[in-house]
Amino acid sequence: MLTSIKDRSVIVTGGSKGIGRGIAKVFARHGAKVTIVARHEQELKATCDELAGEGGALRYEICDVCDWDEVKRMVDSAAAAQGGLDVMCANAGIFPQTKMVEMDIAEWDRVMATNLRSAFLCVKASIPHFDRAGKGRVVLTSSITGPVTGFPGWAHYGASKAGQLGFLKTAAMELSRYNTTINAVMPGNIFTEGLQDLGQEYLDTMAASIPLKRLGEVEDIGHAALFFASDEAAYITGQQIVVDGGQILPESLEAMAEI
Ligand code: NAP
Repeated sequence: MLTSIKDRSVIVTGGSKGIGRGIAKVFARHGAKVTIVARHEQELKATCDELAGEGGALRYEICDVCDWDEVKRMVDSAAAAQGGLDVMCANAGIFPQTKMVEMDIAEWDRVMATNLRSAFLCVKASIPHFDRAGKGRVVLTSSITGPVTGFPGWAHYGASKAGQLGFLKTAAMELSRYNTTINAVMPGNIFTEGLQDLGQEYLDTMAASIPLKRLGEVEDIGHAALFFASDEAAYITGQQIVVDGGQILPESLEAMAEI
């Protein structure tokens, strides 16, 4: 049981939906003060209302995580409202599925900005607050797609998620000066609104290819993020953990048929 997160100040980007909402829910349940971040206010409000009974305290900031000025304002505003900043969960991301032959350059850039540049911006904006506090935690939401696996249509997405892990290694070294750790969760297929948009056939075939025979729940990622953010994980930095129900393990369809 992790007891160290109560009253901590947490930001969760992409917290209005999906995995981000799951991360926010788990932190709120453990008594944290949580700011959720996204571009659409209606969904942010609805999520704050929905999670109000979980414990902790919920608030929101409207922000496009691709934009430095917006990210800086958002982080400073959340820290002012919550009495500092202890944990940055840089989770917001997009995953349009387009094969390279049809992909336009703007889509590649949009995915890179939303998934990779945003991780850098969120960390950069958090550093002054971690410096002031003398400690901090960053948790990135990467993916198995890119660092471990490939999937047609996700060349840009995979590159952005593998790029997050490349960023993580040097960031961990630089952040150590501020007594701050940075680690990444690598989800497999987690049941979210974003994934639902890919269609029932995608969801069914994915579930069949996972040894635990189901998609993950958003809270599965929230619990991994909570661990990285806890005092108990103080000596872990620059690392990543796969949370995928065993999805990357089977060597072949035959291997799956054996279980
Ligand atoms: P989702 O359900 O589509 O939610 C995405 C969240 O990110 C929303 O809150 C969205 O809100 C926000 N967002 C998107 N672009 C943004 C921007 N430019 N600025 C601020 N917020 C932005 O997605 P999800 O499935 O939960 O995925 C969340 C993260 O997990 C992503 O990084 C994704 O790559 C990663 N992941 C997901 C899975 C999975 O199976 N679902 C697997 C591996 C990794 P607005 O649209 O209102 O801005």
